[in-house]
Parts: sequence; C-alpha cells; structure tokens
Amino acid sequence: MRMLEERRELIEYGKKLLTARLTRGTGGNLSIWDPETNLMAISPSGIPYEEILVNQVVLMDVETGKIVEGDAVPSSECDMHRIFYKYRDDLRALIHTHTTYAATVACLRQDLPPLHYLLAYAGVNVRCAEYATYGTVRLAKNAFEAMKDRNACLLANHGLLAGGADLAQAFNVTEEVEFCCELYCRTKAMGEPVILDEAELTMMIGRFRNYGQHMEEHEAI
Ligand SMILES: [Zn+2]
Repeated sequence: MRMLEERRELIEYGKKLLTARLTRGTGGNLSIWDPETNLMAISPSGIPYEEILVNQVVLMDVETGKIVEGDAVPSSECDMHRIFYKYRDDLRALIHTHTTYAATVACLRQDLPPLHYLLAYAGVNVRCAEYATYGTVRLAKNAFEAMKDRNACLLANHGLLAGGADLAQAFNVTEEVEFCCELYCRTKAMGEPVILDEAELTMMIGRFRNYGQHMEEHEAI
C-alpha cells in the first residue's frame, strides 16, 4: 500500500479536526502531496473521520486526476486540492473546513483584514474567493486565485481552505484563521477593529518562518 504513513497522518488529523471543533461529522476534507511520485492522498467522501480506514484514503495522480489506489470515492473537492499541488510547490498539505467564524465572514463575502498578528501564518490578509458551487472546477480555480501568495482563503458562502508544508502547518493555519475570523466578528459587534499595516504583517511572516531557529535581536531596555 503506497503512502501508508501519509494515509495514517491524514486520518489522525481528521480526528483532530473533530476534537478541536473545527469540523462536524463528515464535513471538510484533507490531503497530503508527495512531490516525488506526484500523488496526493485525499480523504474519502461521506465517511465519518472516526471510521476512515487506511485503504479508504484515496490516492490520486496530480497531473491527470486519475485514481491510483483507494477503496472509496474521493472527496468532492478533490479538484480544489489537486490544483494547488499541480501549480504550487510550497504547499504539501491542505485542509478544507466549514468553521463557524470563517464561514460567517465568507457569507459576507469579505476579505479578512490583519486585525491580529497571528494572521501572518496565513499571509498579509485572507481573501475571500469568488462564489462557485461546491465540488466544481470553477471553485477550485477561484480558490487558487484567491490564495495567491497566501496560505489560506475563504470560500464565499461556504468555508475555509488552508495549506502548509505539512498537515501540522495546515492545521495551525486553520486554527489561526478561524481565531482571527472570530475576533473580527466580535470586534465588529463592538465597533471597528484597528487593522495592522502590511509592513508589520510582512515582518511577522519572516519572524514566524524563523521562529525558534535563532534568538531575536532586542534593543536595550
Ligand atoms: Zn466544503
């Protein structure tokens, strides 16, 4: 069985989405890309995360979209995952969810501005992709466009898509974007949030990239 480790990791993160309350039931989908074989492992359609077996994780050829292995139907959003692995090489895992606050902002069809520094895990802001019906190539293309130079995008009247170098990163981006969407909704209920400027976010993106690798320089106090 190919990509066994990736299949197990995918199942584990599916369960983590449930326990972290980032999804419910069979909602959302996850994938991992192996650039060497150009195969992606993607969660099956309609099977609750606690019940997915390793043989039901579907392996798909990124170039052709053909199913290579898997005893189940792939997620209906497989094109939305595949388009990123076909045309970007910085993202090796993607998570799509219908988290409450991200979906709230997505229903307003608004871009999420950087009101908190943790949004830097996703980029200088998070754009909302143009609306398209779920499971369509049009939605895949709209999401790809909206996620240019970003690690996440909102899907109009639908939810959230987040990516990273691995599933742990994609999961972190999902959590942070959902947190920032919640802050956005709450601050909007009380007034107007103060938005951080792009230079501050750009500096933060560089800092997160090197986080824990070296001691930051500090001015004298
Ligand atoms: Zn969805």
